[in-house]
Amino acid sequence: MDHSNRNLAFHPKSDAASPAPEDATGSAPAERNDATMEILEVLRRGERFLVCSHARPDGDAVGSMLAVGMLLEQMGKRADLVTAERIPKIHRGLPGAEGIRTAERVDGACDAVILLECDGLERTKLQGLEQYFLINIDHHATGRKFGNLNWIDRSVASVGEMVYRLVKAAGAQVTPEMATCLYTTVLTDTGGFCYGGTQASTFALARELVLAGADPMRIAQTVYFSTPATKLLLLGAALGNLKSEGRLAWLWVTRPEMERAGAAEEDCEGIVNFALCVSGVEAAVFLYELPERRIQVSLRSKGRVNVAAIAERLGGGGHESAAGCTMEGPLERALEEIMGHLRPGVALLAAEAG
Ligand code: AMP
Ligand code: MN
Repeated sequence: MDHSNRNLAFHPKSDAASPAPEDATGSAPAERNDATMEILEVLRRGERFLVCSHARPDGDAVGSMLAVGMLLEQMGKRADLVTAERIPKIHRGLPGAEGIRTAERVDGACDAVILLECDGLERTKLQGLEQYFLINIDHHATGRKFGNLNWIDRSVASVGEMVYRLVKAAGAQVTPEMATCLYTTVLTDTGGFCYGGTQASTFALARELVLAGADPMRIAQTVYFSTPATKLLLLGAALGNLKSEGRLAWLWVTRPEMERAGAAEEDCEGIVNFALCVSGVEAAVFLYELPERRIQVSLRSKGRVNVAAIAERLGGGGHESAAGCTMEGPLERALEEIMGHLRPGVALLAAEAG
């Protein structure tokens, strides 16, 4: 299909002479204009939409997809929510999550695809997307304008925050169900309001979502206090493999260790933080074996090492403080290659410290 390739970045404008009223995220109407308005125009004109996100969907992916689905429903449109991989257990209780379909390929008539949280089409692991008009909504440091409409805002803590802006711009209602989904995006992508992107506007949005009906205690219990025993067994194995060297720490789990723990790949989520939390450590790595000798890598930093740049060099992506990539095994080889990239970064920090 021949779509005009209009690329929109999100450029905040300042208008000191006549400050416009702000919404909860601190963005004035004049600032959310072009991208949201162009996207809304496509949504208003169409009838039927696909809503997709990345493989290994996380809280931001699932919560954002569900909220966009709810927005489209309020607009009287049809929305098909599709991911290549299943929704992790902890997010399956979100309102509407049972309606997300898992598929390898998408086809059939649709007016546009809304792609959330993907810094490239390949991140979806879905086939058949190229044939559609693509609306790309992302906040990754490694975000790219691969869509027909692109809205990339690296300043927000979660894509859910961008969806909230879209909902507000559409004049739609933030229902308690939608607020629950959007609060989950904020909570999970900020690591419980801990990571670098957390700012005053993040709390303003959280407040707005709680006022709209999100229950912070119930959502936190679902996300942080519903850990399956298999994950704790896996964590035990990972902690048994914990190593550190100066400001770097790393841990891993092998396929046999995952099988012994009865763990699934989704149980690997968050384990990297146990290496990052070591006192004095500035950057951390977690690796686990995928089928066919591939290795999934999680990189984290306390803010002074840009791990997105390293992940990108290795074919992955992410944020400056939280990134990842998929590499060829064996695990020892992948680890050595990553260390080769990380050591110079932390050596610079040591030099700065004098
Ligand atoms: P994770 O370590 O899996 O929690 O992912 C942290 C960040 O890195 C997220 O923003 C992911 O989107 C990104 N990321 C993880 N793995 C990959 C990959 N293979 N390719 C591109 N980005 C990735
Ligand atoms: Mn995100």
